[in-house]
Amino acid sequence: MIRVAVNGYGNLGRGAEQAVSRNDDMELVVVFTRRDPGSVPTQGAPVAHVDDMPRWADKVDVCLNCGGSATDLDQQGPATAALFTTVDSFDTHARIPEYFASVDAAARQAGNLALISTGWDPGLFSMLRVLGEAVLPEGATTTFWGPGVSQGHSDALRRIDGVLDARQYTLPVEETLAAVRAGRQVELTTRSMHRRDCYVVAQDGADLARIEREIVEMPNYFADYDTTVTFVTAEEMAAEHSGIPHGGTVVRRGTTSEGVAASVGFDLRLGSNPEFTGSVVAAMGRAATRMAARGEAGARTVFDVTLADLSARTPEDLRAHYL
Ligand code: NDP
Repeated sequence: MIRVAVNGYGNLGRGAEQAVSRNDDMELVVVFTRRDPGSVPTQGAPVAHVDDMPRWADKVDVCLNCGGSATDLDQQGPATAALFTTVDSFDTHARIPEYFASVDAAARQAGNLALISTGWDPGLFSMLRVLGEAVLPEGATTTFWGPGVSQGHSDALRRIDGVLDARQYTLPVEETLAAVRAGRQVELTTRSMHRRDCYVVAQDGADLARIEREIVEMPNYFADYDTTVTFVTAEEMAAEHSGIPHGGTVVRRGTTSEGVAASVGFDLRLGSNPEFTGSVVAAMGRAATRMAARGEAGARTVFDVTLADLSARTPEDLRAHYL
């Protein structure tokens, strides 16, 4: 049994707990939190304060860091790598090299293995981008996101005066996606690739035209996209927009000889972004424990993970039934 700790009990922490319960070779032995442990309602696993982590060092095989990328993981990544084999889903793409270096230093010093930036993007999508380019060196890789909820854009809507609640969906522009899949030449711009649909609950008597104008003209967030705004009641919001779906598509288009086209595609359609991300993080936890058991230390990324280490099946089973 792989003894798993979940560090941080938000959406992803709950998703990881759910995923661990679906893997027969794993058990959740503790959830760590910065809050009062008594206030964190897990599905049954004991809860400990993060200050007590050192006491768990030899009772945990892998710690799944489920804190946020914006402010939590910069501290949690190196701190936990000093104690455990770790996995996280750090997703601030531009800062990954810097984050890797800081976790690598802590993990090497302690002789632990730390697998960073797993999940689906970065994570499975990254693996597919590398795979597509490796087998089709002449070509182009395109990533589309959605349909899915963007927390950052939903937060931006909620900050507008007169908005009580809001949900923003990012959607790929279907005609552009179809053209890319078919290998047709198509212009790839911010506006041609994605659009944004906003569902907004406004205060009674609020100026709806002003709210809509502020949304579609908001720089960085909405102005560069075709954006639609739909006003809904609080009841409609609760009934129809409470889930956290997401997904996307990676397409590698290329040629194998002059005029002979080939494409590789990878699609995700996720009813729950945190539950799926938690599922990836759990499988990466299995791989990390195996890599650590072989004596590997330092930071690693998904590019260092083998499919054999990710799978719960034995190498013999994989060779007999999956090749
Ligand atoms: P949350 O905001 O839900 O949780 C982040 C942390 O906040 C938790 O670990 C928890 O820490 C704390 N927290 C949660 N709920 C409460 C609460 N009610 N009151 C006070 N504190 C709370 O973030 P998510 O779980 O949705 O996302 C975590 C990260 O996952 C994201 O920042 C993103 O980086 C990453 N992610 C990566 C993906 C990928 O594909 N690579 C995909 C999706 C997400 P504590 O228990 O210690 O208080």
